Amino acid sequence: MPQVQTVQGPVDTAELGTTLMHEHVFVLSADVQQNHPEEWGSEDDRVADAVAKLTKLAGVGVRTIVDPTVIGLGRYVPRIQRIAEQVDLNIVVATGCYTYDDVPFFFHHRGPALNEALGTEVPDPMVDMFVGDITDGIAGTGVRAGLLKCAIDRQGLTAGVERVMRAVAGAHRATGTPITVHTHPGTRQGLAVQQVLADEGVDPRRVVLGHSGDTTDVDHLSELAEAGFVLGMDRFGINLETTFEARADTVVEMCRRGHAGQMVLSQDASCYIDWLAPGVMDLLPQWHYTHIHEDVLPYLREHGVTDEQITTMLVDVPRRYFEGAR
Ligand SMILES: [Zn+2]
Repeated sequence: MPQVQTVQGPVDTAELGTTLMHEHVFVLSADVQQNHPEEWGSEDDRVADAVAKLTKLAGVGVRTIVDPTVIGLGRYVPRIQRIAEQVDLNIVVATGCYTYDDVPFFFHHRGPALNEALGTEVPDPMVDMFVGDITDGIAGTGVRAGLLKCAIDRQGLTAGVERVMRAVAGAHRATGTPITVHTHPGTRQGLAVQQVLADEGVDPRRVVLGHSGDTTDVDHLSELAEAGFVLGMDRFGINLETTFEARADTVVEMCRRGHAGQMVLSQDASCYIDWLAPGVMDLLPQWHYTHIHEDVLPYLREHGVTDEQITTMLVDVPRRYFEGAR
């Protein structure tokens, strides 16, 4: 029986159930937090708040969340372990690196950056770091990563973005662990992902193109779905540059075109994200863990999406993504 690694150990893919494929527990700027923890406040209070919010999410029937918090987003697995022990929910954590332009300074003078100076091909240490997180566990916790994460945004395929994407592909080839990519569909960055990952021999069925729902360009999305990618319709509730209806209608139209089997639904929500000043969350009243179940699914049903298609997006596609070709 194929299994997925979660914070509390391996789970049969058949047991994943309703799965939200892109939810954070926390998004933190780690070195800012280490030095300016005033807003964060009490660790115990933050953990209790997360337990309450995730318990509410489990209460609407969600069995699993996939948390793509990696280097650059403040991943700290011991805190997630503390929370996972107290909620009846599978939490899958990730390895990888989140950048839109350059690699973190840690990597500037390591690996391929040294090729020219040393006159030889130096392997990228990122690959071994990611593989170690997947096979041995993260930072001595014993918690193993269940997916790989990288990013590309409107800046496009910069040298740093490409280096991380190729390192993620290398770790994928070594382990078979699936990949999620933060993309910017408004500038069609999925096509750049397609080029690099095809060059690296990655099967698009093992790749989520995240934030695909940020666009309403269903022709572009159909092209990526037909290429085999899983499209992350995964920012429900972030309605600053778009609307609830625009996001939902895009899913309706993609279902009508027969692409339910290439989409996953999520919110990219978190219990606490330090990227936003206090009060900004008030502008996003629907950006929380239960928005999909409370608002999106009823709207989809009213607009012709069937229960079978909803189960496909919430249960079957996540399961297939983790299982891979069998
Ligand atoms: Zn995210």
